[in-house]
Formats: sequence, C-alpha cells, structure tokens
Amino acid sequence: MRLFDMHCDTLYECAVGEHKLSENSLGIDLKRGLEFDAWGQVFAVWMPDTLRGEAARQQCRRTLELAHTEAANNPDKIAVIYNAKDLDSAFKSRRCAAILAVEGGSALGGRLDTIDIMYGLGVKIITLTWNGANELGNGCLSGNKAGLTKFGKDAIREMESYNIIPDVSHLNEAGFWDVIQTAKKPIIASHSVSAGVYRHPRNLTDEQFNAIVKTGGLVGITISCEQLGEQTFECIYRHIEHYLSLDGYNNVAFGCDFDGTYIPYDWGGIQVMERVYEYLQRKNYEEYLLDRLFFSNCYDFYHTALTSAG
Ligand SMILES: [Zn+2]
Repeated sequence: MRLFDMHCDTLYECAVGEHKLSENSLGIDLKRGLEFDAWGQVFAVWMPDTLRGEAARQQCRRTLELAHTEAANNPDKIAVIYNAKDLDSAFKSRRCAAILAVEGGSALGGRLDTIDIMYGLGVKIITLTWNGANELGNGCLSGNKAGLTKFGKDAIREMESYNIIPDVSHLNEAGFWDVIQTAKKPIIASHSVSAGVYRHPRNLTDEQFNAIVKTGGLVGITISCEQLGEQTFECIYRHIEHYLSLDGYNNVAFGCDFDGTYIPYDWGGIQVMERVYEYLQRKNYEEYLLDRLFFSNCYDFYHTALTSAG
C-alpha cells in the first residue's frame, strides 16, 4: 500500500530528544516509512504555546534547518519537496517525499517577513495556531471567542502569495470562519476528525468540513483517542464514514499525528497504517477508495498546490 500522511511532529522530537530520522524509537522513522510502496509525509515543526516572539522564530528556524540536515544525511531515503517536480521524482526514486510544515503561526514572531524566510526553507503549510492564542488568532483551547487578528488575515494573504497553504487544525471556530472569508485558495485541516462523531474542541463540525471541501481543500484523519473518542480501528472507520457521507471522497486523507499526541505503543508507529488499511478492506472498502484515502487524495492535492510553487 501507498501512504501519504498529512501530519506528524517527529521533527520536534528529533530536535529535543536528539533522535535521528533514519532510525529511532519514535512513531516515525525512514526505515519503517520506506517499507510502504510509496511514502509521502508532511513533517511539521511544532511550536509550543510557551514560546513567542523572537524565541519562537529562532526555534522554528533551527528545527527546519535540522530537517534539511537530516535530509542531506540520507539523500537516498528522503527528499524535501519544493515543487510538484520534486514530488514526482521522490516517488520515482522510492524516497520519502517530505513536505515541511510549521504547526503554530507563533513561529512568525509577529513579522510578515518571516514568511519569506520560511518559504526559502521549504515550508509549504502553516497551521495558524496551536491550542492557545498567538499573534494570528485564537486556538481552540485559548478560551477566547474572537477569531483571527488583522495580522492573522494579512499573514494568510502573504502566505498565499507564496503558495503556502493555511492549516486550520487547532484554530477556534471564529478563527476558522475568518479563514474561510480571507483565503482565496484551498485550505486544509491537517489533523482533525469529525465533531459529528465525537464532540471535541479540536474536531470539525459538518459545516466546517463542508466549507473546507468547498475550497477544494483536504482534511486529515488523526488516529489519537483524544480526538477520535475511542482508540480503536472501528472508531477511525466511523470518522471516515461520516466524512464520506458528506461527499468527502476526494477531500479526506490521513493526518495521523505521530509523535504529537498519544498513540498506543503497541500500535507500533507508522506501520500500524497497514493494519488500518486491512481493517478497512474487511469493511468492504474497494482498493480504489482505499488508495484515495491513504495516498491519492493527498498526492493530487499537493501536486496541484505545488505546481506553481518555486
Ligand atoms: Zn497538532
């Protein structure tokens, strides 16, 4: 099977825990990921809510540079993706197609010119907030009712001018609708399951899911109990079924969130996706649909989004 996963925090764990990307005890490493027939992976730089301003900016930059060092150390295993051509050549040479993201707009340090630096370092996605409030807006656990700030709206426009995709996972609901009003291009929720199945501040209502689909965007299914409601394959299936019932066939993928949330140790990291695949096969999902969910929806989306990227 082929896998294209929209979200993990493995880079942060590599940065603070001195793990290597090639092989480690985390949820994801190159050795395990490359056992799939093809593997695309979004690697996010997670920004803790305790970090703001210049300190946030610098930490993000250091972690992005670490990603490039890891890629340079493993040139036959991983390629950092800048554009659609890179994506195709990574898959052709059976390397991990690594898309870089930043999870938390606090990494901008309140400065629009940081976007240019991030773009230079290969960032293709910015999750606007983590759970708390930052210069761009309010996260889903900030306790604030307001949505995006003026800086947040300006940041979206600036990001889109660089073809950097806004990610609404972790944002509060008012912020979400401000993004829908502001963004001109497709948006994503990289790791958010359905509030229609399990009510949780991190989960998307049907209206939010429909609004993302309307932009031509993508939603990633996370596999953590906290958002699913139950740590079972059956529960993953229920969330997928709900999104599919809203006509999400071309808009649902996985954003597992390895190394960013609690996923049981005995699920064994990224290779558990083989078992999820087999479980859905037993639910009579056809190969075509399985490939759309596990790989092609992501591939098509990012290929298009990166076609005009430099
Ligand atoms: Zn997250």
